[in-house]
Amino acid sequence: MKVTALSGGVGGARFLRGLVALQAAGELDELTVVGNVGDDLEILGLHVSPDLDSVLYALAGLSDEERGWGRADETWNALESAGALGGDAWFRLGDRDIGLHLVRSQGLREGRPLSAVTAELARACGLGLTLLPATDDPLRTFLETPAGTFPFQTWFVGHGHRDEVDAVHYAGAPEATPAPGVIEAIEAADVLVLTPSNPYVSIHPILAVPAIREAVAARAVPCVAVSPLIGGKAVKGPADRMLARMAGGTAPADVAGCYAGLIDALVIDEADGDAARPDDVRIVVTQTLMRDDEARLRLAAAVLEAAGTPA
Ligand code: GDP
Ligand code: CA
Repeated sequence: MKVTALSGGVGGARFLRGLVALQAAGELDELTVVGNVGDDLEILGLHVSPDLDSVLYALAGLSDEERGWGRADETWNALESAGALGGDAWFRLGDRDIGLHLVRSQGLREGRPLSAVTAELARACGLGLTLLPATDDPLRTFLETPAGTFPFQTWFVGHGHRDEVDAVHYAGAPEATPAPGVIEAIEAADVLVLTPSNPYVSIHPILAVPAIREAVAARAVPCVAVSPLIGGKAVKGPADRMLARMAGGTAPADVAGCYAGLIDALVIDEADGDAARPDDVRIVVTQTLMRDDEARLRLAAAVLEAAGTPA
């Protein structure tokens, strides 16, 4: 069985660890991940792809579980030095993390596309799945807030995502073409999965590439989303506030509304079992807090089961 998943960073990666465990158990053959690049930024001369890196680090067992982002055993000497010399130090980059950004940035500077560089990094990290950026073209998420319109990282990291968001747009998306392999992976999949990532700033930027949205909409196979909310609250981050303001609520009906016309089933937590449901999307209720390996594996199995393909 082939599974293709659209993913953001930390929340998506947590879920992907469950799918990888199912793959190791022989329950699925091929896993392709299409990652968000709307959060990418150029800083200190480096090209940083935070969501692709969260997936790489989590699946390679390199992520810092306590901090919730970045690499374990991290130190911050390079950034401190940069800051002391008047360089940008607001975007937190650890020493080990910078090593990866150096390799990526050099590859891009030599003229290789992001997808090729990402494939090399995934291979170097020993990953047994295909990790594809949604596009090799520049695509950047911008947030419209009462305080002004900001690039994603200025709002998220610089402002600590305090400003309420009225609208999101994805610069470059209308002209962007999918990275090589993306459409093929969507068309070849037996199951499509939208991971429990933030709909507005992790999954929508991927779907903003017109050919990707069309391929997902035209699928003949089941597409299952996992809600990133538990009891109407985000486990971490601004997804609940964004849904409340832009979708009008945080119930399963509102989450499903973010993926109108694109999903067949939505997996939600037991805590949301009594909240408003969508009319046209099947709801599967289970425990969705991914606190450990067992919880991740169970959720991944529930998603494949929801697709009608028992794991
Ligand atoms: P980012 O790109 O690193 O910000 O991460 P994502 O967009 O991939 O994921 C962020 C979302 O993951 C948040 O909205 C969280 O609520 C959600 N999330 C994190 N951990 C869990 C979990 O254990 N269960 C569920 N259902 N959602 C989670
Ligand atoms: Ca992200």
